[in-house]
Amino acid sequence: MKIELVKLPYATNALEPVIAKQTIEFHHGKHLQAYVNNLNNLLPGTKFENADLVTIVKNSDGAIFNNAGQVLNHELYFTQFSPTGGGRPSGKLAAAIIMYFGSFENFQKEFEAAGVGLFGSGWAWLASDEDGKLSIIKESNAGNPVTKGLKPLLGFDVWEHAYYLDFQNRRADHLKELWKIVDWKAVESRY
Ligand code: MN
Repeated sequence: MKIELVKLPYATNALEPVIAKQTIEFHHGKHLQAYVNNLNNLLPGTKFENADLVTIVKNSDGAIFNNAGQVLNHELYFTQFSPTGGGRPSGKLAAAIIMYFGSFENFQKEFEAAGVGLFGSGWAWLASDEDGKLSIIKESNAGNPVTKGLKPLLGFDVWEHAYYLDFQNRRADHLKELWKIVDWKAVESRY
């Protein structure tokens, strides 16, 4: 199965000023494209040749895990933003956030703290178990909550390539800005 580069559901400049066009062009067109190319080179002849991405991420290690994890992570990442995003979730996700984190504001605070507190490269995830229980999961490098049997709902990328052109070392400022472009309808559809 050939792994394809996920199409952006918006123009490369559409998320400005939160994420600059140049950052999207490098992040999607260069970094993610490289993970896709690597994975397409690694898979032929392995038992994962015809597997879907989640199956590969759950069952692989080494270079296949790293590249498949990053392809999965970025497919979730790039499809969770919208130039008309921001605001708050609604419906059952909104209710669950209040149940498990006390308030939407407290969830945001804890989620940002998870991203800021991650040493080195990785991801902060909002994840759900099969009963709908929510948790914030910190994953280093290419990690994804699917390896813990959880469903990823929202992921903030804290690799420097995600923010360095726009925010340099100010990871916390970048994470705070990301709320303005979160497409909660897309996130809710994963729950
Ligand atoms: Mn990235």
